Amino acid sequence: MAGNWKMYKTCPETAAFFEKFRSMVADPERAEIVICPPFPNLSAAVAACDGMGIHIGAQNLYWAREGAFTGEVSAGMLRAVGCTWVIVGHSERRQYFGETDQSVLKKTIAALEDGLTPIVCVGERLEEREAGRTEAVLISQFENGIRGLSPEQFAHIVIAYEPVWAIGTGKTATPEIAADAHRLLRAQARTAFGEQAADRVRILYGGSVKPDNTKSLMEQPEIDGVLVGGASLDPASFALIVNF
Ligand code: PEP
Repeated sequence: MAGNWKMYKTCPETAAFFEKFRSMVADPERAEIVICPPFPNLSAAVAACDGMGIHIGAQNLYWAREGAFTGEVSAGMLRAVGCTWVIVGHSERRQYFGETDQSVLKKTIAALEDGLTPIVCVGERLEEREAGRTEAVLISQFENGIRGLSPEQFAHIVIAYEPVWAIGTGKTATPEIAADAHRLLRAQARTAFGEQAADRVRILYGGSVKPDNTKSLMEQPEIDGVLVGGASLDPASFALIVNF
């Protein structure tokens, strides 16, 4: 159950979130919980959830280890502040910051090399769905952004299916639409990495997940978890989702 805070919350607001969230999580062992705050808040988040069994992730990284790459942050730097997860290829990164399947693959490999668990995001845009291209888009994102991993690397990633038209719009994919996409992605994984790897990989759904639609989404056997944007900013609503 992962939360993506996007570009919201300052350090004091991060501490205030965990102060409340801490007592609201019924059983941190029951589900793996990951929260991804903006870079400047990562240390504060790691400190605030010490001993809670919650993992902290970043929302992006750069693939080089270090160098003259002004404004970028490496996997090793994230690791050094106690981060253990990272979102890669979120649709907002693809849309506003020019990320491509090729950069997603490089970032995923860099994350894995430093022991971070990447949540690799894929998903079609509204015009692609309306043009009947959803399958083609997902296959292409998988082929170009994920298939280049070794079987060993693939075993350590988590995939998030996030239809772009459902992100931050209040429009959730129906559980059936999400399940169809998850089945397609798992079939791609089966072809590329084999039966066992495909059965094991966790595929999250993301796109306007809220406390009141978590149950119907999570009831789909194809959906292993959720990646939550807006509703992860409020401790009470994110707690309802993770306690599902
Ligand atoms: C996201 O940012 O990954 C996301 C799914 O956002 P929201 O839940 O707000 O649609």
